[in-house]
Amino acid sequence: MTSNFSQSNDVARVKDRLDILDVVGDKVRLHKAGRGYVGLCPFHDEKTPSFHVSQERQNYHCFGCGKGGDVFTFIMETEGLDFRQALELLAERAGVELTPQENTNKRRSSGELREVMEIAGKAFCSLLTAPEGTAARAYLERRGISREVAYHFELGWSSSSWDTLWRLLKSKQVSTQEAADAGLVLESERGGFYDRFRGRVMFPIRDVSGRLVAFGGRIVDGEGAKYINSPESALYSKRRNLYLLHAAKSAIRERGRAILVEGYMDALRLHVHGYTEAVASLGTALTEEQAKLLKRFGNNCYICYDSDAAGQDATIKGMYTLQDYGLDVYVIELPAGKDPDELLSSEGGKEFFDAALESARPLVLQHLHAVQKLLLDPATRRSGVESLMDGLLQLQPSAITPYVPKLAAEMGFYPDQFWRELESFRRNRKVERPRVEGKKTRERALYDPLEAALCAILWRDEECRRSCSPDEILPLLAGERAKDIALAIMMDSPKELEARWHMMDDRLPLAFLAQGDSFCDELMFSRDADPWNAVCEALRRKRIKDRLDYLDGRMKRHEASLEEMAEFQRVAASLKVKKAPVCADD
Ligand SMILES: [Zn+2]
Repeated sequence: MTSNFSQSNDVARVKDRLDILDVVGDKVRLHKAGRGYVGLCPFHDEKTPSFHVSQERQNYHCFGCGKGGDVFTFIMETEGLDFRQALELLAERAGVELTPQENTNKRRSSGELREVMEIAGKAFCSLLTAPEGTAARAYLERRGISREVAYHFELGWSSSSWDTLWRLLKSKQVSTQEAADAGLVLESERGGFYDRFRGRVMFPIRDVSGRLVAFGGRIVDGEGAKYINSPESALYSKRRNLYLLHAAKSAIRERGRAILVEGYMDALRLHVHGYTEAVASLGTALTEEQAKLLKRFGNNCYICYDSDAAGQDATIKGMYTLQDYGLDVYVIELPAGKDPDELLSSEGGKEFFDAALESARPLVLQHLHAVQKLLLDPATRRSGVESLMDGLLQLQPSAITPYVPKLAAEMGFYPDQFWRELESFRRNRKVERPRVEGKKTRERALYDPLEAALCAILWRDEECRRSCSPDEILPLLAGERAKDIALAIMMDSPKELEARWHMMDDRLPLAFLAQGDSFCDELMFSRDADPWNAVCEALRRKRIKDRLDYLDGRMKRHEASLEEMAEFQRVAASLKVKKAPVCADD
């Protein structure tokens, strides 16, 4: 292990040599204000600057969204890097040589491998424009890829001969071992070496920070697999990369969404048409690592596979993986048999794509759509229901709630039966509930003592748990986490739940319940009042008040419709008639 000492030493050296004004100034236009500098915050949308940078303290703070930190956090946040990556990037910029890490060999070799990759990438690019690249240029022209686009995306050509690249690498003093480790050459039976990529249009695959880590090669004529990719190496892991992510990340951040497609050409075509938030999965199975990568830049992921793949079990499973890591997944459906590349290349394609994007389905509805045929036939209904339930079990209950009426109707349940079915299904499958990761931002807002009290009563009172359904309880709650906790309690025994929360080191639910308990104990309720009814009634009034506030706001801004004004009168009147049994915290 690198000692903490040498790492903090490195950090200090890098900080000494860099000025936060320069680093931030690359991304934000700053101007002097008082003792510091201000600019438009890169982390949230704003028209008047609330992002402050202090040269004295070498830090930044946004008064709008609360983000703040030093050069390292700034680079981590804006580039989507982890700490080590940010340190490497800034060290390079500062001209500081970092203390080598524990696995020195591996690091040095991956540095050298990167150089080898860059040499190969440049060679492929120049072969594309050379006389021997004729076939490749003709192919690209047929596919409607102009020279400018090919240049911009660094497309290349691997010559059809056996060792064009290998000879070039040797002439640049690249060792056999390095070329093999970089996945560029293969050993023949007779002990010689030959190029892995031959006769293929080459797509460079860069990692999230833009380093060239692999290639994908599309065959142009002749025999062989349509696409081959670099093998896994010290540089490259298919699970951890997405094609064009380095070019798409800022658009994903700005637009709050990524468009995920299957093929290199699909992603490239989308970029050309202005959808610069597009990335391609390198293979159809989506991985946790890819989910985490995307989540760094935006919360929404629009998946656009060709229509055959979009309905397949494996694809849907991958989508649940993304959703499980906190992305909201939508599925774009294209006309049968078309992929994004074909669609956008055809006339009126962009309008078609825009419309498809507009009407993308949330994952749950996509899944429902995919099994609809099964549900309609009594002979296959059960397997349709099971497929759906398997997926739904991976979601937080609050992600399911909006679709319960539709789901229940199509699965043939009454709405209030739905949660019980899901729960009994879960028991049979012994599935763990989904992780509670990446939700920190939501947690701040949930400490409404009344909501905590409601959950606490549910938690303690089995009778109460049995007698009410999520559909009665959830509308009373405003906090997302409170809803999740209430649902978890209704679907599970307290003992099991408690064990699970501890196992996941999720400390919030128990703290929340404790707060609810003390709220029930201490105040508000006269001895003869039934706390359950009192809490429910108070929450009901609260939600009515929320609605009134909302309508009131609309009327004040002159945005309310006639119906909304009438609703305001009606709701306000109903609030006056009923006497509140509890005066909660208002
Ligand atoms: Zn901000």
